[in-house]
Amino acid sequence: MDNHLCDLSTANVLVVDDDGTTCLLLEKTLSDAGFQVFTSSSGAEAFNLFLENPIGLVISDILMPGKNGFELCADIRATEQGRFLPILMMTGSDDDNAVEGSFQAGATDFISKPINHAVLVHRVRYMLRANNTFMEWKKTEDQLSRLGRVLDNSSNEILFLDGETLGFTDLNNAALSNLGFTKEEATLLYLGDIVLANTEVGVPIVDQLESLINGESKAVRCAASMLRKDGTFYPVEGYAYTSLNNHSGKVDIVCIFEDITHRKQVEARMQHLAYYDSLTNLPNRGLFIENFKKVLAVSERNDNQAALLFVDLDNFKYVNDTLGHNAGDELLCKIAKELNNCIRSSDVVGLRSEHSLARFGGDEFAIFLSHVTDEADVILVAERILESMVTPIVIESREFVVTASIGIVMFPEDGRDVDVLLRKADIAMYEAKNRGRSGYQFYTDNIYARTLDQMELEKDLRQAVERGELLLHYQPKYEISTAKPSGYEALLRWNKKGEGLVPPMEFIPLAEESNLIVSIGSWVIRETCRQIRQWKEQGFGKALVVAVNLSSKQMQDRMLVKVVTDALDEFDLSPDCLELEITETVMMENMSTALDVLRELKAMGCRISLDDFGSGFSSLNYLGQFPLDVLKIDKSFISRINIDGSGNSIIAAIVAMSKSLGLMVVAEGVETEEQLAFIRECGVEYLQGYIWSEPLSPDDIEKQFF
Ligand code: C2E
Ligand code: MG
Ligand code: MG
Repeated sequence: MDNHLCDLSTANVLVVDDDGTTCLLLEKTLSDAGFQVFTSSSGAEAFNLFLENPIGLVISDILMPGKNGFELCADIRATEQGRFLPILMMTGSDDDNAVEGSFQAGATDFISKPINHAVLVHRVRYMLRANNTFMEWKKTEDQLSRLGRVLDNSSNEILFLDGETLGFTDLNNAALSNLGFTKEEATLLYLGDIVLANTEVGVPIVDQLESLINGESKAVRCAASMLRKDGTFYPVEGYAYTSLNNHSGKVDIVCIFEDITHRKQVEARMQHLAYYDSLTNLPNRGLFIENFKKVLAVSERNDNQAALLFVDLDNFKYVNDTLGHNAGDELLCKIAKELNNCIRSSDVVGLRSEHSLARFGGDEFAIFLSHVTDEADVILVAERILESMVTPIVIESREFVVTASIGIVMFPEDGRDVDVLLRKADIAMYEAKNRGRSGYQFYTDNIYARTLDQMELEKDLRQAVERGELLLHYQPKYEISTAKPSGYEALLRWNKKGEGLVPPMEFIPLAEESNLIVSIGSWVIRETCRQIRQWKEQGFGKALVVAVNLSSKQMQDRMLVKVVTDALDEFDLSPDCLELEITETVMMENMSTALDVLRELKAMGCRISLDDFGSGFSSLNYLGQFPLDVLKIDKSFISRINIDGSGNSIIAAIVAMSKSLGLMVVAEGVETEEQLAFIRECGVEYLQGYIWSEPLSPDDIEKQFF
């Protein structure tokens, strides 16, 4: 049986009276009418019966020994199942006090004795029916208030609006607490006061609800920005529904919104990850290209010029190799900031965009400038960047000067398409690097043609290795006092398709860029060893020493030591036959690896010489750290002898310093008697130069010297 609802014809009725006859009569009447009847002669017993049985109605006498009718009534009311139970009290006919007391004790109704039995049955039926109705109403009311609680406790924000005035009629707790209003304050407001157009959708909320308001639809999806009492905003998304208000008969609007602030933040973070470089926080290549496309579209419409600058750091690898990746990362961040300042403070850039600078990866950055009047505008920015790099950057209390090479393309002159512009900027940047680094270069078609030539050359060079078009010439190194060769330097030549010898400076940089130099370099070492062995077999030069040049790519390659040992072993040579020439740049670009490799080669017994000294960093401080035997003064100093005073004094200083370090000094590129006289005077003991011999083929070497 339902807790509260009874079957009207068969309900359990409890009759309580100390008078046995009354009990009996009532029992008969009621059971005849179809009710289940329990009888009891005392209040206490009746209460137990009530507790043990599902009683639908109680009829009780008032005056009873022990627990009287009032007390029984009060006890029943105090229980959960008795709170709304119909209780009918039987009173004396004119006992006003009894009537009053019955109601006070919680009785539902009373009936006077003597009992009219026909009336009683109807009275009982009526009371049960009324109680059922009450219980039903109570149940829906409970459900409603439960629903109310659900709505109130919902994390969704629920707003009720009058469909005509669009004034708020109610808001749930979630909405009130997020908005910061009390219900009283909020119900004075209208929709447009606090629900505003969402920034992304941009459609005013009233427009979003239009079809609801004019009755075309029952639900619409909407997005809005909510204005808090404190003036801040938060984004919401959700649905708005129409609902018929049973009270007023009018249509209400119910909005069920979700605060999507958190979701937006997550989305923003994902977006950041996808579009920004996590190290420098700059836009990445993808975002840059997207923005650049927009800038180009606007420039196209407004007939504006724009520029793209491709910035590549020249000696970043050096920092990374010497100090490790953390220092490298720190340097990149500092450079990023520096570059940002350069475009921020730019007086020529009309449109200042947070996104005009990007890191493309590694040590590559890109910048676009919009609203450019002419190339001079762009030069200003490029020069500012180069100047900003002059100031050393301090990392781990060491100073570093990082330079950059900048390639520049102009829109629309060099192209209208982003891909084309990027490619051309890259080509221009490489040209800037080739032309000696720390500079900028505008793209020109000539550069492009040269790049194509280079690509052609690279293809040929690859084949040159396979076709055996490479060969070595040897240039003697003389002891000045005896004018006799004390050794030779192997110099690479390319007999390109039999068209004549290509000098190394025309193809070695290319070979370095494409990594071909590693295999070419290994070939040079092996070929030199083979030549030494052959000359030894022919009985030439017992203490023959031949030098080979090493490129920086070979120094990065730990295989170098193995290549050298293998070649020496293959031709059964002792390591002191071989001298290895490296330049300062090679050494500086891979300081730690270079040091390891050189120490190993030196320990084996090879001679190490520092080539082109003075043409690179000239960092005398570092000299002592390297395991050197020979220092070769660059020919640029020799050619300045007696031309400007500084050439002479520098040579004198280098010679003095080298001697103090115990190094053998060689003057490179000596061409004239005047130069010879000067170096002799300075105490230089060896020379290599056209004055006594150019590089010669092995045949010529044999003819002239052996
Ligand atoms: P380098 O090692 O400094 O070689 C000396 C260069 O100076 C040679 O040029 C030589 O011909 C030139 N030279 C010698 N005496 C004189 C002179 O009196 N006047 C002038 N003007 N030049 C003189 P070459 O053979 O053209 O080689 C140029 C550079 O190419 C070399 O400079 C070296 O850095 C590089 N190289 C040559 N062979 C190899 C090689 O097998 N591997 C690598 N990695 N580099 C090589
Ligand atoms: Mg050399
Ligand atoms: Mg040299």
